[in-house]
Amino acid sequence: LTNDLFTASCFDESYIRNFKMNTFFFFFCRMIGKVAVVTGGARGIGAATAKLFAENGAYVVIADILDEAGTMLANSIGARYIHCDVAKESDVESAIQLAITWKGKLDILFSNAGIGGTASSITSLDMEQVKHLVSINLLGNVHAIKHAARAMLRCNTKGSIICTSSSAGIMGGLASHPYSLSKAGIVGLMRTAACELGVHGIRVNCISPHGVPTDMLISGYRMFRGNETTPEEVKKLVSDQGSLLRGKAATVEDVAQAAVFLASDDTGFITAHNLVIDGGYTSAISSLSFIYK
Ligand code: NAD
Repeated sequence: LTNDLFTASCFDESYIRNFKMNTFFFFFCRMIGKVAVVTGGARGIGAATAKLFAENGAYVVIADILDEAGTMLANSIGARYIHCDVAKESDVESAIQLAITWKGKLDILFSNAGIGGTASSITSLDMEQVKHLVSINLLGNVHAIKHAARAMLRCNTKGSIICTSSSAGIMGGLASHPYSLSKAGIVGLMRTAACELGVHGIRVNCISPHGVPTDMLISGYRMFRGNETTPEEVKKLVSDQGSLLRGKAATVEDVAQAAVFLASDDTGFITAHNLVIDGGYTSAISSLSFIYK
């Protein structure tokens, strides 16, 4: 870098402009030429991540069931959209195939689609609802890892697979029984997939967000507090109680940054890891807060 700066000073303005551009791309575009599939990428955390992947130079396929939102987002960031219900294995296979047909390879899978479901007592669980949630939140990840791994092995890419788990997969009492079981299951699946795929240089990790005021979280709060609960109220609730970082609620961008980190080559030696994005919530209780005021 120093040598280049020295040399740059001896050259004309265009050299310096190019040098600055290259430096910019080097430092800020961490996914140049990478091909990524983002499930649940039409809104919320998935949409923010699809945008950030594209801003970092990746080619992105957005796979979701919200066709209008997904298509609009894809058009605005130069991505491709495909209708894909992750509970259907053939839909997921088609989404991965779109990436291969479009760019000839797959480097990154962000398996993020999920639903919140409804909460009820363990003694009165509606088993059809449980199976429905598990088919999306857990089996959706099985489908995605299976077909992404096949594609990465076929194309010989040392890819990165990232699944979205949750703080509810770590601690009890944060969400419904089926949601918690699905999110804990993702961590187990991620670790065992990392064992097998690591042999081929493919990394498999999870991110576990907590309290991000998206449509999912807002409708979750509305179930308990009534339909009149506003997004601002949810944001205030999670920023007051949701982490050690009082006054701060997680944003979709906070989670997207973590996904870029795990997708990029910066984390080439990180696999089988659950990166928790919870402002410390699942690690510590600030019971001495009366001292730390
Ligand atoms: P969201 O509801 O805004 O986004 C979820 C996305 O998944 C939507 O675009 C939705 O259409 C899509 N989706 C739902 N069912 C699908 C299906 N069958 N096939 C394909 N796509 C489907 O919610 P979000 O908060 O952005 O959630 C994203 C992920 O983050 C989920 O897996 C969720 O469980 C997880 N998560 C969220 C939080 C939070 O606080 N918001 C915390 C922990 C984990």
